[in-house]
Amino acid sequence: VKYVFVTGGVLSGLGKGIVAASTGLLLKSMGYRVTAIKIDPYLNVDAGTMNPYMHGEVFVTEDGGETDLDIGHYERFLGIELSRKNNITSGQIYYSVISKERKGEYLGQCVQIIPHVTNEIKERIREVTKEQGADIAIVEIGGTVGDIEGLPFLEAARQMRFEEGASNTLYMHVALAPVLSSGEIKTKPIQHSIQELRRIGIQPDIVVARSTRPLDPEARYKIALFGNIPVEAVFSNPDVDLVYRVPLVLHSEGLSRYLASRLGLEYREPDLTQW
Ligand code: ADP
Repeated sequence: VKYVFVTGGVLSGLGKGIVAASTGLLLKSMGYRVTAIKIDPYLNVDAGTMNPYMHGEVFVTEDGGETDLDIGHYERFLGIELSRKNNITSGQIYYSVISKERKGEYLGQCVQIIPHVTNEIKERIREVTKEQGADIAIVEIGGTVGDIEGLPFLEAARQMRFEEGASNTLYMHVALAPVLSSGEIKTKPIQHSIQELRRIGIQPDIVVARSTRPLDPEARYKIALFGNIPVEAVFSNPDVDLVYRVPLVLHSEGLSRYLASRLGLEYREPDLTQW
């Protein structure tokens, strides 16, 4: 089983969910079984108790789960039914750890974020992936790198590379490249968000830059140089008129082939004719 972790940098509402769903679609179109998990670092147990004006509509799954709207993106892009279990929140994780503590399951231990909370996170990711019989799980970590709330999830993602191996895990970072009124694309915010990831032990394998227009070669080179990744690992995700075009844009830039090579998967030309 392989895990693709998708993190976000600079700001939220960038289109990380769309990139995660698009990545899933490309892998699925290569013939692999894909599932997708959304991690939300807030303390609500589910999305049902949040303000839809701020957080977007609640997506209700087949089994009655009130989940984040990204679950809807995944279902539409991947053409699959997901479960409430595909949306993991801090609320659920802490609820479960504290319930276990009350039942005496950790008797004699000091219950801590590391390892108890991080173990709970890893267990859930692995459990859902296994239950759904997936070859690959896309795991999107909500929020922005640098948020206090997201740290236990990023630590769990870091540990998963250690435990599952480098060819079974991939870190994809989606961040903003602002365009100045002069037309120049700036990469500094992305450089800083990559540094923030590295500080907690995660070196991204792929960087997807969101900007109003496509990256020029100089911007791409800078992201590669300062992000410490090959130029081919930098992808440009410019504004499009329809988000359903994003998988096609990323495929045309070579994302499918790059994903296959990084994950040690056989490359099969994705069948996007129906898309
Ligand atoms: P995040 O997961 O980063 O919060 P979402 O994936 O929910 O963001 O996307 C935020 C908004 O941006 C959505 O309304 C989505 O339709 C839009 N969006 C995402 N990618 C693009 C793109 N390449 N071009 C134009 N709009 C986009």
